[in-house]
Amino acid sequence: MSVTEKRPPAVADPESTGTMRAAVVHAFDSPLEVEAKPIPIPGPGEIVVKIETCGLCHTDIHAAHGDWPVKPKPPFIPGHEGVGIVATLGPGVTEVGVGDRVALPWLGYACGTCDYCISGWETLCPHQQMMGYTMDGGFAEYAKAFARYVVKVPDGVDPVEASPLTCAGVTTYKAVKVAGTRSSDLVAVFGIGGLGHLAIQYAAIAGGRVIAVDVVDEKLELARELGAEFTVNAAKEDPVAAIQKLGGADQAIATAVSPRAVEQAYGSLRRRGTIVFVGLPADNYVQLPIFETVLNGITVVGSIVGTRLDLREVFELHAAGKTKVVLEERPLAEVNEAIADVNAGRIPARIVLRP
Ligand SMILES: [Zn+2]
Ligand SMILES: [Zn+2]
Repeated sequence: MSVTEKRPPAVADPESTGTMRAAVVHAFDSPLEVEAKPIPIPGPGEIVVKIETCGLCHTDIHAAHGDWPVKPKPPFIPGHEGVGIVATLGPGVTEVGVGDRVALPWLGYACGTCDYCISGWETLCPHQQMMGYTMDGGFAEYAKAFARYVVKVPDGVDPVEASPLTCAGVTTYKAVKVAGTRSSDLVAVFGIGGLGHLAIQYAAIAGGRVIAVDVVDEKLELARELGAEFTVNAAKEDPVAAIQKLGGADQAIATAVSPRAVEQAYGSLRRRGTIVFVGLPADNYVQLPIFETVLNGITVVGSIVGTRLDLREVFELHAAGKTKVVLEERPLAEVNEAIADVNAGRIPARIVLRP
C-alpha cells in the first residue's frame, strides 16, 4: 500500500488556526488521506477532546474498506480507541471538565431511554451512534464526543495503554462476562491479536484455565507469557482434536477474523459449552451444525463491545496491575502502512497511532 499523505500547509498551532490533521476515508477502495480538517465545535452535551493516542482496530480497517453489510458514509474519520484530554465543553456539559483524560469508545451515543439502555444493554440501543463509523473518530488531533458516553481514564492507567483497552479490552472483558467463565473452566481463545491477548487475561482473571489458538508461534509465546496454560498452533495441529483431548472447552472466545477459526472454536467445545462470537470477519457466514448444537446443549452468543461500566471495570483492573497491554506506537501519518502491517499479521498485538 502506498502512502498518500497530503501535508497541509504548515500549521503552527492548530488551536489558533482552527484546523487539525486527520486521517480521512474518502472512498472504500483507496487508502486513507492524512489532511487538514476543521477542528470540530461541540454542540449541546458534546465535548471536543485533544487526542493523545488512538488504537487501530480491525473494525477500522473494515470501516475504511466498507466491508460490512451496514457501511459508514465517506468522507469520515475512523478510530474508536481515542484517548485524550478534554479541550472544550459544549453547552450543558456537566459529566466531565476541561483537562480530564477520557476515552472515546465505539459506543459514541445511545438514547438512554429505550428498553436496552435502561436495562444495562446500551450497546444494543437501536438509536446508537458509533465512533469512527457513524461519527468521526479518533484518527485526528481532535475529536468530538458526547460527554455522557466518554469514560474517564483514571490516574494509574498509562494513556497509551488506555487506547487498546477502550475497544479490545472492553470487548473481550464483556465476552468473558457473557461466556460466564467460572473458576476451573477451560477457555479456548481463538486468535491472539489485539483482542485475543486481552481475552486470555480476562479469562484467567475470571478463574479460567486458558488455551490459546493461533497460527503464529510468536503470538502463542506471547499468550503463554500472558497466562495461557496451553497453546495450539492451528497451522500445524488440528485445534479441535487438541482441545477435545483436554476434555473440550467450557467456553470458546472467537476473536479471529476467519470463519474457519470460528468453526474450529465451535468444534472445540464440550457439552453445554458456550461459543462467543467477537471478531467480525469480512466473510459474514459460518456453518454450524443444528444436530450437535441441540444434542450437546451448546450456546452460541454474539457479544458487541461493552458498556461504560464495563470500560470503567477494565480501567480499574489495569490500574490495579492485573492486565498487560501489548502495543506498538506509530505516527498517525503512517496509518496506511499500519493497516498493511495489521493485515499481514506483522504486529505484536495492537498498533496505537499518535496524531
Ligand atoms: Zn474495535
Ligand atoms: Zn437506547
